[in-house]
Amino acid sequence: MMQQYMETKSQYPDCILFYRLGDFYEMFFDDALTASKELEITLTGKNCGMEERAPMCGVPYHAVDGYLTKLVSKGYKVAICEQVEDPKQAKGIVKREVVRIVTPGTILDAAAIDESKNNYIMCIVYIADRYGLSVADVTTGDYFVTELPDGQKLKDEIFKFMPSEIICNESFYMSGMDLEDMKNRLGITIYSLESWYFDDEICKSKLMEHFKVSSLQGLGLSDYDCGVISAGALLQYLLETQKNDLSHMTHITPYTTGKYMMLDSSTRRNLELCETLREKQKRGSLLWVLDKTKTAMGARTLRKYIEQPLIERTEIERRLDAVTELKEEAISREEIREYLSPVYDLERLITRITYGSANPRDLTAFSTSLEMLPAIHYILEDMKSDLLCEICKEMDTLEDLCSLVKSAIAQEPPIAMKEGNIIRDGYSEEVDTLRRAKSDGKTWLAKLEEQEREKTGIKNLKIKYNKVFGYYLEVTNSYKELVPEYYTRKQTLANSERYITSELKELEDTILGAEDKLYALEYELYCTVRDTIAGEVIRIQKTAKAVAALDVFTSLALVAERNNYIRPTINVQGKIDIKDGRHPVVEQMIPNGSFICNDTVLDDKKQRISIITGPNMAGKSTYMRQVALIVLMAQLGSYVPASKANIGLVDRIFTRVGASDDLASGQSTFMVEMTEVANILRNATSKSLLVLDEIGRGTSTFDGLSIAWAVVEYISDAKLLGAKTLFATHYHELTELEGKINNVNNYCIAVKEKGDDIVFLRKIVKGGADKSYGIQVAKLAGVPDIVINRAKEIVEELADEDITSRVSEIASREAEAKKKTKSKKYDEVDIAQFSLFDTVKDDDVLEELKSIDVGNLTPIDALNTIYRLQNKL
Ligand code: ADP
Repeated sequence: MMQQYMETKSQYPDCILFYRLGDFYEMFFDDALTASKELEITLTGKNCGMEERAPMCGVPYHAVDGYLTKLVSKGYKVAICEQVEDPKQAKGIVKREVVRIVTPGTILDAAAIDESKNNYIMCIVYIADRYGLSVADVTTGDYFVTELPDGQKLKDEIFKFMPSEIICNESFYMSGMDLEDMKNRLGITIYSLESWYFDDEICKSKLMEHFKVSSLQGLGLSDYDCGVISAGALLQYLLETQKNDLSHMTHITPYTTGKYMMLDSSTRRNLELCETLREKQKRGSLLWVLDKTKTAMGARTLRKYIEQPLIERTEIERRLDAVTELKEEAISREEIREYLSPVYDLERLITRITYGSANPRDLTAFSTSLEMLPAIHYILEDMKSDLLCEICKEMDTLEDLCSLVKSAIAQEPPIAMKEGNIIRDGYSEEVDTLRRAKSDGKTWLAKLEEQEREKTGIKNLKIKYNKVFGYYLEVTNSYKELVPEYYTRKQTLANSERYITSELKELEDTILGAEDKLYALEYELYCTVRDTIAGEVIRIQKTAKAVAALDVFTSLALVAERNNYIRPTINVQGKIDIKDGRHPVVEQMIPNGSFICNDTVLDDKKQRISIITGPNMAGKSTYMRQVALIVLMAQLGSYVPASKANIGLVDRIFTRVGASDDLASGQSTFMVEMTEVANILRNATSKSLLVLDEIGRGTSTFDGLSIAWAVVEYISDAKLLGAKTLFATHYHELTELEGKINNVNNYCIAVKEKGDDIVFLRKIVKGGADKSYGIQVAKLAGVPDIVINRAKEIVEELADEDITSRVSEIASREAEAKKKTKSKKYDEVDIAQFSLFDTVKDDDVLEELKSIDVGNLTPIDALNTIYRLQNKL
């Protein structure tokens, strides 16, 4: 046995091998050491013909799913090795084979995966400076492929799909992309496969073979050279791990990223599309507000819509038409939702059916779901909008399959497949006959019991059954004397003895034989029904997609009605005009009706950039995100929270919001901020929407202000960028840009002073804020009165000394000094000599400077010191 184990293990060196021994999966050697540690199970040993005992541990087969999930979620691959012949019939050692390899991206266990999310595996190849990318979800059969010209776009796709496993070719692994960072951030496994997976010819022929086509053109893949390699390698990997023919993967969908709005990972996070920034939970995200779907397929589809909004007007309008119709037809909508309620996850059910792992209860769940389809179809037949008509056409009511299951499978079948009670009475004559034999057997037994009692006079004689002896006659000791000769004793107990007779044995053979036959026949019939359904996988998948889309549109329509949204008008002239806009999530989180709405106008002409000022907590971020979310909602085909909205399509939304301390990546806050700014300025186009919050905050005031200023200048210039932008800032100086650049406008979020306090009005108005109200906000936040009062004193002190003019004086000096440094540098003079203080002559000043304990200096002391020193010069 150990030899067989070693042979199998040698074929799967990168997997933990679960080796089936009776009721357990056993692991040996290093696998046992790893598994016992990770699963917290006891490590034992086994004599295996070697000097030392082999480390060993095991898990019971009926509880394997939980253990598998645990290992796989920690990034391990597990090969499951089963007994593939009946141990009773085996000659010598039982034959065993690896039947499946479970990896993070291919796990099927329903408990391990979130039903509202796809579980993707992704394959990336890097060839000749291009990236081929394919993704698949084996639980639903989804399979996509694309190509990308650069690493940034690739990253955006990775963060869009959020795969749980990435496989790649060696050159991608070595391409210099920060994979460690990605592994940590996504918590996924990334590994490269051997080069033969990526052989051009093999990839092509595997794809053609799988999809049964004679050319790649038929699959729409002729323009995807490295995409094909990626898809082919992924297919081979899946065939190898799943060890079945993947017949549920019936389509491969090539797509171009140009079809969708591009969103980079930080924008996805900042806008809290599917989860919140801090708690990483759905509650508080846009998905949470929009998701009133009834089915798991609908929930997954809605998530996809949110993660990839459209950029083509007609497609958006088609979706909006569907939502409009379902919004207006409220009764039909509610009916549809009711019928959708009992519909199970058809996509994942059909996968289990094609894998042969669906149990009888899965089939009843399947038929319960199908029962709803005719009614849904009937309602849809009256719908007028393009998309709903299309959905109606695509939705097959699958009545043939429904009635097959209903006629064949019992109403409440067990989960087990080989213990009978699966097939409904009346479906198969043979089953009925065997069943009758089984129940008739009970009557025969009762008769025999009665007959033997009479014959022998043993009044309490009983026929009983157990698994070891089968049927037997039980006689208590008090009647021992009456036992006739033809009884054969089988067992003696303390108070009784057990016998059999030839007649009882015969009866037993008939009854048990019937049972064995019945169970085998039921299993066979069950498999035929399951395979018949599996043969209709294309019809079922199409229907599942139609149901999912319908679920999404009904959900969007319901949310539109409940939350008082309106249908946006879509334009391609680039004007964004929102009246009474609201933040879709914040308005749900605060008391009803207390959200203050605001208008927005942005266009490609005079209103390109809005500089937004206002104290902390005034509502700047909320306002800016609200605009981004309204645009995004419109482009995914949803109604929007406003009283009127005209949305000019944008190709990308970029956000740079708050100080997102990216501690995990080990970069300083300022570095992260600037990296994001760099990404935005390089990749945005004049059709993009930019949301920039507090640019330049992470460095000194002067640097920060200068950077912010330069960024606004750059964005505003149509020759350089010219993107529509909302720019929130603390630097009131930036409001000066309004007069200087004609497409920059100032806005501020109004507050009202009430004695010592301020009241947030949350209303955006024209003009710049003149004060920052920092102390009032600090007070609101609960900073102790002593600190607040002291801060007030300091503010007054500073104002008295007119510190600001001094600060700017120092700044200009600093600039002067830098300029000199620069010019000297070109003269190749030692630049170290030149510094801020190259104008200082007086040694006293230098001495005093040297003696300052900078670490213990407050900013005010520092300024005062500089002032004093300067006066000495
Ligand atoms: P800022 O970015 O100016 O510091 P935020 O946008 O973070 O301010 O807003 C602070 C809080 O004010 C939010 O958490 C929200 O609860 C509330 N708020 C913001 N805008 C509004 C609004 N228009 N109506 C009602 N409450 C709002």
